[in-house]
Amino acid sequence: MTHPRIAPGSVLGIVGGGQLGRMIALAAANHGLKVHVYAPDADSPAFDVAARTTCAAYDDEAALAAFAAAVDVVTYEFENIPRATAEVLARHAPLHPNADALATTQDRLSEKAFINGLGIPTAPFQPVDTPDDLARALDAIGLPAVLKTRRFGYDGKGQRIIREPGEGDRNAIFAEFGGAPLILEGFVPFEREVSVVAARAADGSFAAFDLCENEHRNHILAFTRVPAQGVSPETAQEAIRIARSIADALDYVGVLAVEMFLVREGGERLVVNEIAPRVHNSGHWTIEGALTSQFEQHVRAVCGWPLGSPARVGGLPCEMENLIGDQVEAWRAILGEPGAHLHLYGKGEARPGRKMGHVTRLKG
Ligand code: AMP
Repeated sequence: MTHPRIAPGSVLGIVGGGQLGRMIALAAANHGLKVHVYAPDADSPAFDVAARTTCAAYDDEAALAAFAAAVDVVTYEFENIPRATAEVLARHAPLHPNADALATTQDRLSEKAFINGLGIPTAPFQPVDTPDDLARALDAIGLPAVLKTRRFGYDGKGQRIIREPGEGDRNAIFAEFGGAPLILEGFVPFEREVSVVAARAADGSFAAFDLCENEHRNHILAFTRVPAQGVSPETAQEAIRIARSIADALDYVGVLAVEMFLVREGGERLVVNEIAPRVHNSGHWTIEGALTSQFEQHVRAVCGWPLGSPARVGGLPCEMENLIGDQVEAWRAILGEPGAHLHLYGKGEARPGRKMGHVTRLKG
């Protein structure tokens, strides 16, 4: 579909109803857009802040078509919507990011092949579809190695490290994953994890936030600190160049995040781990920490509006802390902390591992 002129008052459709959709919706409303959220779960955090909602499954073609026909432009807040869903949407409304970008990045195998095809390093990898493939892939890649599902993994779900040659029976390890298509990756001996959060507009203009440093606990992002420490200016520039070449090659419109490992052995270098074709948890600090938030930037890009400045407010360093599970119970104390910016996602039950909110602190 060609891009109609999107102006304040137009309707932005968001597929997916989690906290990312909620924060995109809040940014869109701030610029006078009406937001229509499509999600399968009646409890979706984004429903609370949307002008219109559709509660239906991601494979309900009639509901998807009706939703897309009722909006002026569609985006999505997570990458696990089926390609067929994206194609139904794109028949009725402009879809950003495009369905090919979604399909390339939602399977770790096609994603890594695409990244290597641009001359950008990733961990070595091999597809694993049978227990014999696993034995062959372990021979080719060596140990330690990380076995992951190719699709639908997040927060460390759907992966395990294999450290020792005698570790477990190949059939049993393969069976743990229930027959899903897998990928074996070489373990990257990283010093720190960093990410680039950046926006690309339809005219090819590009704006990256400063390099983020990410600390995970139990495979879940716990802290993002900006700017990343211990990274040379040349490497930080290289990270942004990598993100731009990925966005250009995908003909990407919107915000994306590229997660990378910083490796010190053999000289400081970057290895790409994965691409998130959406706004990203490591970009939440931008709401208060940058002149334009990642959510506003995404709205600007998908609406065909000029991108904003990604510079840090006052050039200040910034820290974002996720509130996971019962950490959210500290909300009252955080409200009492001068300068702490609290965001709660309106989720009911604080289950272990569930992202309930976050807090951003500018380090003035
Ligand atoms: P992912 O689901 O690919 O983002 O992986 C979750 C986390 O597991 C990463 O943030 C890393 O801490 C770790 N990890 C994943 N893949 C590798 C790898 N190939 N080498 C070392 N650590 C990894």
